[in-house]
Formats: sequence, structure tokens, C-alpha cells
Amino acid sequence: MCGIVAYIGNRDAYPILIKGLHRLEYRGYDSAGICLLNEQLTIYKCKGKVSDLEHYVKAKNMAGHLGMAHTRWATHGEPNQVNAHPHYSQNKKLAIIHNGIIENYAPLRSELISRGYSFVSETDTEVLIHLIEDIMTNESVDLVEALRIALNQVIGAYAIVILSKDNPDMILAARKGSPMVIGIGKDEFFIASDATPIVEYTNNVVYMDDEEIAIIQKEKELKIITITNKRKTPYIEKLEISLNALEKEGFDHFMLKEIYEQPRSIRDSMRGRLHLDKGLVILGGIREYEQKLMNARRIIITACGTSWHAGLVGEYLIEELARIPVEVEYSSEFRYRNPVLSEEDVVIAISQSGETADTLAAIELAKSKGATVLGICNVVGSSIARATHAGVYTHAGPEIGVASTKAFTAQVAVLTLLALQIAQKKGTIPQSRFHQMLSELNVIPEKVEQTLAINEQIKKIANIYKDVKNSLYLGRGYNFPVALEGALKLKEISYIHAEGYPAAEMKHGPIALIDEYMPVVVIATRKGTYEKVISNIQEVKARKGKIIAIINTGDKTVQGLADHCIEIPETEEFLNPLLATIPLQLLSYHIAVMRNCNVDQPRNLAKSVTVE
Ligand code: GLU
Repeated sequence: MCGIVAYIGNRDAYPILIKGLHRLEYRGYDSAGICLLNEQLTIYKCKGKVSDLEHYVKAKNMAGHLGMAHTRWATHGEPNQVNAHPHYSQNKKLAIIHNGIIENYAPLRSELISRGYSFVSETDTEVLIHLIEDIMTNESVDLVEALRIALNQVIGAYAIVILSKDNPDMILAARKGSPMVIGIGKDEFFIASDATPIVEYTNNVVYMDDEEIAIIQKEKELKIITITNKRKTPYIEKLEISLNALEKEGFDHFMLKEIYEQPRSIRDSMRGRLHLDKGLVILGGIREYEQKLMNARRIIITACGTSWHAGLVGEYLIEELARIPVEVEYSSEFRYRNPVLSEEDVVIAISQSGETADTLAAIELAKSKGATVLGICNVVGSSIARATHAGVYTHAGPEIGVASTKAFTAQVAVLTLLALQIAQKKGTIPQSRFHQMLSELNVIPEKVEQTLAINEQIKKIANIYKDVKNSLYLGRGYNFPVALEGALKLKEISYIHAEGYPAAEMKHGPIALIDEYMPVVVIATRKGTYEKVISNIQEVKARKGKIIAIINTGDKTVQGLADHCIEIPETEEFLNPLLATIPLQLLSYHIAVMRNCNVDQPRNLAKSVTVE
């Protein structure tokens, strides 16, 4: 959600900024803009894509060694050229880009209007830059001090970058609740919302903390202060992202590449954690909290979107294997409903980006009530990784496609390890059975590889159903969250209405929708409630619905009933989500491509949801 990139150094800023914006496109946005500082502070912006911005500035002078650029995901004011960032201060000496929401913008705006300021945009962002100008003028303080004072007056979330015509060798950046990373090169700095625009120039980065202001000056040491004016020592970390992870590498879309990466990403999420030879699972990141987990009165998993679906799989896993009661909560609900929590509870927050605003708020709430909070996220150094007491990285590598694929399976893999680790410590599974389970988990990456071989068959099925308006996804037990995730994937990228349901619940409502036009995707693998699911398939068939069944290889029973069968390898019931999800990802992908949808950047969606 929203992308920020800025540069100060000896190179031409423009190519770095544009490339950076392209790298951040995956986060989702609706307009783009750029500001370069040479003698002038020049702003160019437009509605649409970064390529539209490039086209727009083609004949313009884009010289300059200092600049900033932005992709906006509109919150206040429609996505148009005027509301796009950057925004000038009234005297045009300052310019700002912003990610987040200034919640008290309305009173601040009225106050500034009464003091003679006029606004060109409808954004909350413009309020902040006028406020800074106002403080500089009235309190005769310099820009850094004015920014500091202004940030003490605003309520809300922000990652901002400010350029000043009168300070041609300086960039100011600040954050609260929205991410910001500073890359440190030789005599140059790169500032961005995440590390993807930075990695090709330097591996040395500083992740800013909330309520910090960075004073970034060419050929000088990076200076960081807090908004209460305390000096902080920048903590330099090493990036471990490979540049290949940010390229499509021959695939038509990032999403397809990421689907195909899953044998590797699942393996990576288990590397150094699953010790088959020793019959052990060790998640190093949460080792200190092992005892706490074992004795937990209750585990609460909090997440949003796809991560919430992974959380549901986690509920089945932890309850079945480790025998601890689990609740799965939408972060956006949990944070506002005064939940009953105590020190005996463990909260697990799941987020791919580690920046999800609602999940961050849920974490703060849980901590304030004394619960232990653990995180599962993909992005190293992210806000959630730092806000939690401890956690586990999924190590799926950067996920660029907005619709999550490999991050989901990596989250499920980590939750599986977590459940097994607690189960082993608690002794809820006999050691011989535990060994069997570990062995099967260990071969899951190969089985995912085998599952991917069904791609061509899925393409044919996609071609038959690409024009439908509605669809239903059914599953039971471990396959129920898979059905939810399959339906979400289709909605997100193909804009076809899809509902996921526990198969037996169908008769309490959605069955009314079934007719000969309704495709029903049923996950009907052999273990667990297989017989029951077959009855559910019969119920759909009796009403002429079309069945697309995900089955285990060679299952003649379902083959005799379904219109289409997609065969996946057999595995342990608790590992089924790691395989059954794959064909559903591919089905959504092919349908979206056939409908000419923007697969990697679906409309209205953002990758890293940094607003609540
Ligand atoms: N709230 C600001 C706006 O609507 C920033 C949105 C963003 O994060 O892109 O302009």
C-alpha cells in the first residue's frame, strides 16, 4: 500500500526513483508522482500507473541528484492528479510525500484555513506540509524542529519524506505506524517503504522505528532523533534479499512465478527447523517461549485476509496435535472488542508484510493486557517482527504478486512446525507417530512439485469456467480453510464472486444458489471426512451444479461423480492444505489471465495494508 522512494547522492536521482517506484508497484496504488530538487523544487504527478508518469515526464528536464517519488493508495480524496503526491507547502519551498492517514487532519485543516492557508488537494497529507510551514514561520525554527513540533501535533500513521528548496543537501524522513527503510551507500542514501528498491545498490540498511525522524545529508553520517528530541544511534542491518527474487525470471507474472516457487519456499521455511535425523522440530525464534506455549491456557491467532486463513489451518493443527484451545480472530475485530485476555494466553500474529495496520494494533492491545505475543511474518525487520515478543520468519522470499500464494503455504508450513514442536514437548503424540509425521512433512516439497504438474489440465478447466459470475468452494476439516483461500484467490484476481464454505454448511444457505451454471469446487481428498464430502458432492449434483473436485490420485469414486477431477498426491490429513491449495491458486491464476485481468496488481487491492 503506497510506495515511497527517495535518493540523495551523486548519481542522477530520476532513474533510481522510477525504478524504485516500479519495484514498489506490487504494493498497490492508483496514482504516482515525483519531485526533483535542482535549483527548483519540481513536482510531476499523474493518475494511473508509474509508466503513465514516465510517459508524462518524457520531454521534461529530470536532472537532479536529490529527489523523491510516491505511489498513492488514496484514502482522503479520490485518486486524481491533484490529490496525487508530492504536495507543496503554501510557499512552495517544501514538498512532502506521505503514506498513512493523519486522523486529526480536519481540525488542523480548519485551523490552517483560518490562518490564511489554502488547500489545493483533498488529502490529509497537505495539512501536514502547511502545518510545518506555519510552525517555521511563526515560531522561527528550522525545518527539522518544525517537523518535530508538527509530528507532536498529529494523530495517526505516517511515513513521510520532505524536501526543502532552502536545504538542497538534505532529505528528512519520519515514520509512525508505516514502514520506512534507509539504505546506506557510499556518500549516498536510498529511502524507501521497503527494501526492494534499495537492494541493488546497497545491503546496509537501517529500519526506522516509530516516532523517529531521520536527517539524511549527502556525504554526512545519518542522524536520527525521536519526536521528543532524543538522539538515536542508527542500527545498521544487512539485507538478505536476492535481486532475482524481484524479477519475473521468464514467467508471465510474479504470481505464477511465486506459485512455482513453492517447493523451494516451503523447504526454506522448514530449513534448519525440521531435523528428521534427530526426530526434532526447533523453531529457534520462539525457543525461549516454548514453555509459555506449552502451558498456554489458550492460543489466539490474529491476522487478516490470507494470513487469517493460514491461522485457521493453525487452529486445526494446534488443537489436534498439541491439544491447546485455539481461537482465530480477524485483527480488525479483535482490536476493537475489548477481548478477555490474560498472562496465560499466547497470541500469535500472522502477516506476510509484517506491516498490517490492524494486526499491529491487535498486537499492542494483546501486549497491554499482559499476553505473550509471537509473530509469524515474511518480511525481515518489519514492524510486526519488532513489535512482538518473539517470532518466526517464514523465509518465503519477497512476494510481489498482490494475491498471496507462497507466503500462505510458508505460513502453513511454519504453523505445522509450531504445532509439532509443542506437541513433542507436551508429549501429546507418541514418538513413533511423531517420526512418521516429520517424514511426511519432509517430503511435502517434492509432493508440491508433483502437484504443479497438473497446470495444463487446470488451464483447460479454467477455459470452460472463465466467464461464470459466481462460484462456490467447499471443504471440511483441514480443507475448509483451503476452500476459503481458494475462493478468496478467485475473487481477488479474476473479480468473479466466489464463496468458501464448510461443505456441510452448504445446505444451510448457499445450496439455494446452485443451478446448472454454478461451478462448485470441492476439496475431496481421501482422509478425514471424505465419505461426508462425497454426500455433499451428491447434493450439488442433484441440483445440477458443476463439480470441480480436488482428489487424491486414482480416486475412482469421485471421478464417477464429478464433472472435472484434479488429482493431487496423497498425504497425511494435517498436511493436506499444503498440497490442495496449489491447484486452487493455479485455477484462479488461469481464469484471471483469460479474463485479461491485471493478475499481479488487481484493482483496489494493496499488498501491504498499512491503513486500518
Ligand atoms: N492519506 C494519504 C492520501 O490519501 C496517503 C495515502 C497513501 O498512503 O498512499 O493521500
